[in-house]
Amino acid sequence: MPRVSTISDPIVRRRIVVTGIVQGVGFRPTVYRIARSLDLTGWVRNDGHGVTVEIQGPESAVDAFPDRLRAGAPGPSSIHDIEVREIDVLEVGAPVIGTPVRVALDPEVRHHLGSREPQVDTDEGFSIDLSDSDLPADTMIAPDIATCPDCLAELMDSGDRRNGYAFLNCTNCGPRYTIVRHLPYDRPSTSMSEFEQCPKCQNEYDDPLDRRFHAQPNACPVCGPRLAIIEDRREVDVVDPVAHAQAALAAGRIVAIRGIGGFHLAVDPTNTEAVAELRRRKRRTDKPFALMARDLEEVKQFAHVSAAEAKLLTEPARPIVLLEPLSQAGPFASGIAPGQSTLGVMLPYAPLHHLLLRGPRATLVMTSANLAEEPIITEADGFDPESAIRLADVVLTHNRDIVQRCDDSVTRVGPKGPFPIRRSRGYVPTPIRLAEPVPVPILAVGGQLKNTIAVARGREVVMSQHIGDLDNPLALGFFEDTVAHLCAILQVEPELVVCDRHPDYLSTKWAKSSGLPVEQVQHHHAHFAGVLAEHDHRDPAIGLILDGTGFGSDGTIWGGELLVGTAGESERLGHLQHMQIPGGERAIQEPWRLGAALLFRLLGEDWIQHPATKVLDRSAEELRLLDRVMSRGVNAPLTSSAGRLFDGVSVLLGVRNAISYEGQAAIELESLARCGSPEVWENVRSNASMFESAIQTDELVKAVLKDLERSVPAKDIAARFHASLAHRLSAIVVHGAAESDIDTCVLSGGVFQNMTLLTQVVRNLEAAGLDVLLPTRLPANDGGLAFGQVAAAAARLHESNRTLNQSRQDIPCV
Ligand code: ZN
Ligand code: ZN
Ligand code: FE
Repeated sequence: MPRVSTISDPIVRRRIVVTGIVQGVGFRPTVYRIARSLDLTGWVRNDGHGVTVEIQGPESAVDAFPDRLRAGAPGPSSIHDIEVREIDVLEVGAPVIGTPVRVALDPEVRHHLGSREPQVDTDEGFSIDLSDSDLPADTMIAPDIATCPDCLAELMDSGDRRNGYAFLNCTNCGPRYTIVRHLPYDRPSTSMSEFEQCPKCQNEYDDPLDRRFHAQPNACPVCGPRLAIIEDRREVDVVDPVAHAQAALAAGRIVAIRGIGGFHLAVDPTNTEAVAELRRRKRRTDKPFALMARDLEEVKQFAHVSAAEAKLLTEPARPIVLLEPLSQAGPFASGIAPGQSTLGVMLPYAPLHHLLLRGPRATLVMTSANLAEEPIITEADGFDPESAIRLADVVLTHNRDIVQRCDDSVTRVGPKGPFPIRRSRGYVPTPIRLAEPVPVPILAVGGQLKNTIAVARGREVVMSQHIGDLDNPLALGFFEDTVAHLCAILQVEPELVVCDRHPDYLSTKWAKSSGLPVEQVQHHHAHFAGVLAEHDHRDPAIGLILDGTGFGSDGTIWGGELLVGTAGESERLGHLQHMQIPGGERAIQEPWRLGAALLFRLLGEDWIQHPATKVLDRSAEELRLLDRVMSRGVNAPLTSSAGRLFDGVSVLLGVRNAISYEGQAAIELESLARCGSPEVWENVRSNASMFESAIQTDELVKAVLKDLERSVPAKDIAARFHASLAHRLSAIVVHGAAESDIDTCVLSGGVFQNMTLLTQVVRNLEAAGLDVLLPTRLPANDGGLAFGQVAAAAARLHESNRTLNQSRQDIPCV
């Protein structure tokens, strides 16, 4: 229909570039629908920058377009910028010069197939250019997205052709990151390339008005992947693989389930023997197992779910959310999360999960099928089917490859919003935006434990999925693969590698042998800088970083640090009182040594006679040996680590003398504290901001011993320890902030995953009028370290550029 230009509403044409997660998420059909509803002509296409749109029509309608687009953007998309430029108005139906226009498949909606430069508008109005650019992409691959309500309805609809089909998806949902081999994100580049679409699927795929328009993993029972059952190392012929797996689970067997980013091992959570057997096979003695429940209603049967927690549970990423159980025992076997005050729970995120959980068991244990501390298993490890058998009685598998392994993400609600613990499937590779572009492309390689890496270009920082502990040889290979894959799909050639200052971290060694310029960032400064960058806070701030251990600027072991500065540089204002780590690394696995170290520090050589040593449960000979180690200070390095302080105190309270996973003693100490009454000890309250060369913790130990002598219940001592430590730390932060004339405080580091401590410190600091910044998109533990490394390196580069420019300007004219 020809447009009439009026004086009040002239015809205009604009080019609109949309950046962000806008490809592979149903964006172009949305643009198409909005343009049509506004009666605009023009076209939309994917290109290297994201999505480019040209629209033409009355100015009022063209003006309305960007807001309509923001409001109507498809759920899984994420718009970073909409850039609008005025261009010359084109005559509708003008001939195309040098641009091949193909006839559209759908007579109703004609579009240019494969035309690279659509320069004119067709008579039909608005068109979709289907060509996928081969230009370098600064656009993003979407993360894996949980099954959407439309697909779920089809899955359960007995009249639908995809009823009960475990691989249905659409442009609003389905696997993305985990099936991409390389760019561009197009079916041939994914593990769906082996499956040729049937005519019905192809029609959906080609129709711009269909929910499956260009849904790369589109499939149906006729043409797509299939389920299979493996038992005794061979495929067995069963009519209904899901029903077979459900029956096996109900019978107490262990079932391996191939999912989106890897395999899960599932058992019936009410079956104590099955849970114990799973622990035995996984060689995982205590670390908690996650649960997957059919829906929110089911979760509410066994856990408290606040509105904020419900929101996290139902995010498209479907993370595991740590929830408080309704009762201690609950309906499940006690071996699911021993010693924990929370349960890790997630909702189904793949069609297969929905089908499984509609069986006799509405909740299942779903734990990744790796051995303890190894990366999640996929067929890349030769898992399928050989190694699966090692762990499972029955394997429910399928024939779609998992290209990128990706563990489930873990999060919880903290005192100021989401507080992630592991950012992985469903979030990766969604970028985190910086306020300023990085001066050069940066690769940050993270730490040693809970490793993740980061690739930064422009304003975007893309964090990798959870890689794991690099001292594990399998994880190191995964680390190298991830570096290569992430750089490839982002088409980034890093010009700078950032790593920790610890010389023995394998990530540091890798960085130094990479041949690229290397920037080293102190561990706790990286924790600090990451939170500053996440909140775009550029003024100086104070940072309290409570952590396990990290390599300090002075070569000693840090981990309870009070910093002041900006993302680029900080200064150490103070630290927790030093304690010894007798036996070095060994003491982390054997925290009784740390209990002894606290006694030795407080009591000197008399420690060995103190009644509290009974709880260490060691022979007199062992204690004498340790005494020698500590008094000579050989193989007993000093640390300011908060993690080691918690380990030591939990030993003194009889919580734990040995651990089977990182942080276990501290986690169990916190669980205990949650049942006690949190009073601040008098000796701590009276000189709360006492701060000589270090933040004294001896008084806390003294108070613990005194309470033990008076037979105060351990839960109350644990609660008092938390409250008193929070009190002391807060007082010192407030004091330090006032001295430095600062009103913002960052809290980070793995020890702050202790919600009891975090909540109390936040409350105290806010009561004193400080602004508190916490990590909300990245973990406070080392899983977020790479982001902080990027932030610190970028800030330093910006600073040196500014200095350089400044000195250039200072050169006098002659
Ligand atoms: Zn869907
Ligand atoms: Zn099909
Ligand atoms: Fe750390």
